[in-house]
Amino acid sequence: MIIIKSPREVELMKKAGHVVGEVFNALEGNIHPGMSTLDVANIAEKVIRDAGAYPTFLGYGGFSGAVCVSVNDEVVHGIPSSHRILREGDIVSVDVGATLDGYIGDACRTYLVGICSEKAKRLVEVTEASFWEGVSHVRPGARLGDVSHAIQVYCESRGYSIIRDYTGHGVGSHLHEDPYIPNYGQAGTGPVLKEGMCLAIEPMVAEGHFAVRVNKDGWTARMKDGKLSCHYENSIVVTKDGYEVLTMAPKEDK
Ligand code: MG
Repeated sequence: MIIIKSPREVELMKKAGHVVGEVFNALEGNIHPGMSTLDVANIAEKVIRDAGAYPTFLGYGGFSGAVCVSVNDEVVHGIPSSHRILREGDIVSVDVGATLDGYIGDACRTYLVGICSEKAKRLVEVTEASFWEGVSHVRPGARLGDVSHAIQVYCESRGYSIIRDYTGHGVGSHLHEDPYIPNYGQAGTGPVLKEGMCLAIEPMVAEGHFAVRVNKDGWTARMKDGKLSCHYENSIVVTKDGYEVLTMAPKEDK
């Protein structure tokens, strides 16, 4: 069942989302070669806790990090580690959840570490742009498949593949609510969108084949072919005539 949030709940979602945006403000320009993925997570966790929020992923299903930090061919669910050192040319995705007053903001950005290859930069740009392409279809009366299809077409027409094993999701007082939001599908299918639905839309895009395997740590999902992957996500609310993004950093310019 897809939960319709009341105006009061949407206000709480905005407050939680704002905390996530503040995390991206703190990370932007501050991820450098030589830092560990734990250093990155610590910056994020401090912002979350200073805002009086809780890092949603910490302890979720037994996850041991405050946020997920995934490097290069790692797609999602990378566990922050003091041993994992970022190197010049890496791309690193930071997936952030913040729970405030019982409601959750969930979003992800992928950052360039130092100077990156053109192909890495293009993957990051296309992944982000595919989110905006998908979300541009969100309005009451649209079908969820319209969003999924738009993301798929945008990425595949540029030579990338869409990861199948992970999807976006409804978000609210629980991290994962109905519906599942695949980044591929048919337009004109799926649930009808309604005002007050809160959705985490999150393209996960691969440079090579979309097949993924999970590391022995039980969490880190990485590309089977070892090629780059990228992740971009925002939590949004369906509004009367479109959508509003809940998790943008104040400095970001969308
Ligand atoms: Mg998510």
